[in-house]
Amino acid sequence: MKSEQAEREIRQTEIEGANCPACCGPAIPELIKIPDHEYGLDYLANYACCQNCSTLYQWPMPSGKQLSSFYPSHYHSMVDGGFLLRMRHDMRISRLKIMVGNGETVLDFGCGNGLFLRRAASAMPEAKFIGYEIADQERMEEIAPRVVIMEGAFEECLSKLPPCRVIIMNHVIEHLPDPFSIVLKLREKLVPGGYFDGQTPNSVSLEHKIFGQLWSGFHAPRHTVIFSAEGLRRLLERAGFTEIKIKAAFNPAGYAISFASLSHGNHKGNIRRQGLKWLLYVAGATFVLPIDFWSGMPSMIDFTGVTKTA
Ligand SMILES: [Zn+2]
Repeated sequence: MKSEQAEREIRQTEIEGANCPACCGPAIPELIKIPDHEYGLDYLANYACCQNCSTLYQWPMPSGKQLSSFYPSHYHSMVDGGFLLRMRHDMRISRLKIMVGNGETVLDFGCGNGLFLRRAASAMPEAKFIGYEIADQERMEEIAPRVVIMEGAFEECLSKLPPCRVIIMNHVIEHLPDPFSIVLKLREKLVPGGYFDGQTPNSVSLEHKIFGQLWSGFHAPRHTVIFSAEGLRRLLERAGFTEIKIKAAFNPAGYAISFASLSHGNHKGNIRRQGLKWLLYVAGATFVLPIDFWSGMPSMIDFTGVTKTA
């Protein structure tokens, strides 16, 4: 059996050369091992933590093929999340209405089943909507009036994309193995003064401090890069965005998952996002959210960046 010292040295060698995907800083020479608390996969994800901005990222980063195997068919973004999801959609639509004018295009990158786009299109009759999902097969389909879903390889779909007024990444940026290159390429598709907008967990959060390795933000092994607010700001600056705003978001699902993870500790487990037990967790989460807001270390953050006009 390896001694603790020997194991530590192995981890240090493993992590050499790991640079933070957010700010390019070096990693703390210690990997954090996190099981799958939600879908019970037999896979332990290794996370490195940036010394500069505390962004967490998988190291080594799993391959695209490995990553796609981490999503079961009943994955939660593929189902209608009911009342809570509708409330979050309504909040996002209010944000969109301020950013989008008549005849302008919105891209939802990582649109899942397109439910948000359907709702947005019926609330915003003058705008056009495109949803993108990564897939092996190329496909383009109009699923509702003014709502087109594009599926396929990223580069292929990018070439077919019209100029966009807003690009949304709602709980998507933390699933990408190389977020910087994707964000950079998408920025080129935005019109001058266009918006890049989304929501993601925050690694420097009260919820992470309280729950440690049980923190819902890991969502291991599906979250690849878990940004801190500072790390996300650095990435958006590097990608050429200005007027960057990052603030606390409303999303009780995070705390609800962390509460639910307490029942199985730091082992793999299964959490159903439905039923009475789930409702109790969500109720508990809603109760603690005001404290989360006041702490100045929110568990979820909304972000916006604007493309330069000149
Ligand atoms: Zn960093």
